[in-house]
Amino acid sequence: MTAISCTLLVIGAGPGGYVCAIRAGQLGLDTVIVDAGEDGGTCLNVGCIPSKALIHAAEDYARLTHAAGDHPFGLSARDPKIDLAAAMDWKDGIVERLRTGVGGLLKRAGVRRIRGEAAFRDGKTVEVQGPDGTTTIRAEAVVIATGAAPVALPDLPFGGDVISSAGALSLREVPKRLAVVGAGYIGLEIGTAYAKLGADVTVVEAADRILPQYDAELTRPVAASLKAHGVTLLLGTKVLGQGEGAGELRLQDADGAETVLKADKILVAVGRRPQGDPANVSTLALPMDGPFIKVDAQCRTAMRGVYAIGDVTGEPMLAHRAMAQGEMVAELVAGRRRAWDHRAVPAVCFTDPEIVTVGEAPGPSGAGEGRIVARFPFTANPRALTLGGGEGFVRIVARSDSHEILGIQAVGTGVAEFAGQFSLAVEMASRLEDVAATIQAHPTLGEAFQEAALGGLGRALHI
Ligand SMILES: Cc1cc2nc3c(=O)[nH]c(=O)nc-3n(C[C@H](O)[C@H](O)[C@H](O)COP(=O)(O)OP(=O)(O)OC[C@H]3O[C@@H](n4cnc5c(N)ncnc54)[C@H](O)[C@@H]3O)c2cc1C
Repeated sequence: MTAISCTLLVIGAGPGGYVCAIRAGQLGLDTVIVDAGEDGGTCLNVGCIPSKALIHAAEDYARLTHAAGDHPFGLSARDPKIDLAAAMDWKDGIVERLRTGVGGLLKRAGVRRIRGEAAFRDGKTVEVQGPDGTTTIRAEAVVIATGAAPVALPDLPFGGDVISSAGALSLREVPKRLAVVGAGYIGLEIGTAYAKLGADVTVVEAADRILPQYDAELTRPVAASLKAHGVTLLLGTKVLGQGEGAGELRLQDADGAETVLKADKILVAVGRRPQGDPANVSTLALPMDGPFIKVDAQCRTAMRGVYAIGDVTGEPMLAHRAMAQGEMVAELVAGRRRAWDHRAVPAVCFTDPEIVTVGEAPGPSGAGEGRIVARFPFTANPRALTLGGGEGFVRIVARSDSHEILGIQAVGTGVAEFAGQFSLAVEMASRLEDVAATIQAHPTLGEAFQEAALGGLGRALHI
């Protein structure tokens, strides 16, 4: 048994935890980070990065297969093939490179890294069971950054051909038939990628539409694209459990009729939650919000000196939110004055086409009281057309009185890269006039943003 002490102990080396530890180290705090797994957590190892690598490989393959058919640009390619094992090795190489980078950054910041499973003994003492035995750590402040894990369906536990997103991101062969349970962003991102890679994909969703966290106007182009890629959508359909035969999924539609769906792999993507009692947190008897730890605007839990950040604190469960919380908490522990005063957290759904949202969305019936909602369609944007796209739009929600921009959403090819520009506009409390007065390079997708602002002022030029 080894015993050590430190100023700050971070439990979990995902984007929340490792950013917190790096910033704390930079600020001169004696910092220790503990993780049972690899640096980078869910995001880097089995989430954001591997999924985007797979999406990119699938997109390139889809372009080639398109070129092997009747291509509008006159391109031709003969008999394209995908070696999924090679694509996965390439993806693993990117993950490995980034993981090494995180390890290097922690080292450079002077952070001590301990491998093992951490469990609270009390609010200032944590015991770590690792490959080198047990380490007891006494810390002045502790940050819980233990993340979340995929939710399993009680009648469809993970194992065999029933896989989580992590399993789907490490397949070595494209399954002939893939059933995706859950039409949230993870299910649709991965499902679309496999459809492009040639799998026969069926998405089963209990709600009556895809991506229920977004409004129907935003998701319509995604639903149309899924159809165009041959994805079967079974909406309003519940999974009852596995059938008697291998790969059989028993389903019940909205009218109560039961059917059986056959699949070679079943991806269950019905949400993510902290599972079990991560780090034995229950011993601290902290106030919880369901499975999530309750925190205030400074990520403080109810116990002095104990903070929680990232997915373990609930929605929005996004890597960049976890990182921003981690950076803030490190500064708080170092004695700086900080609070969570962000006006909006951007969210990107890397479906085809992509969706990006920042801040307030229109009300269910449109503009809502005191709001202007302005749109500009990509069909009127030359760059979108020259990229072979044209579907989707940019939408701005602004106050009617001051024209302050409260929210921006877009759906269309390549709109993920708008997240920065949109966030900047909302964070800086820009008005429609500010965006309308920018000069956007021609021809770029950004012109649609300026045009939407001009439209909000009743003076759009290209529509
Ligand atoms: C398929 C997929 C795609 C995604 N795509 C995106 C995306 O494009 N953009 C985006 O913003 N987000 C995306 N996410 C979500 C993103 O991965 C999470 O929001 C992010 O990883 C949360 O960071 P975190 O630091 O809170 O926790 P995590 O990244 O989950 O890290 C938690 C760490 O804590 C460790 N840990 C847990 N318990 C203990 C313990 N007792 N002792 C020691 N260590 C412990 C775990 O091993 C893990 O490494 C995606 C997720 C998935 C699954």
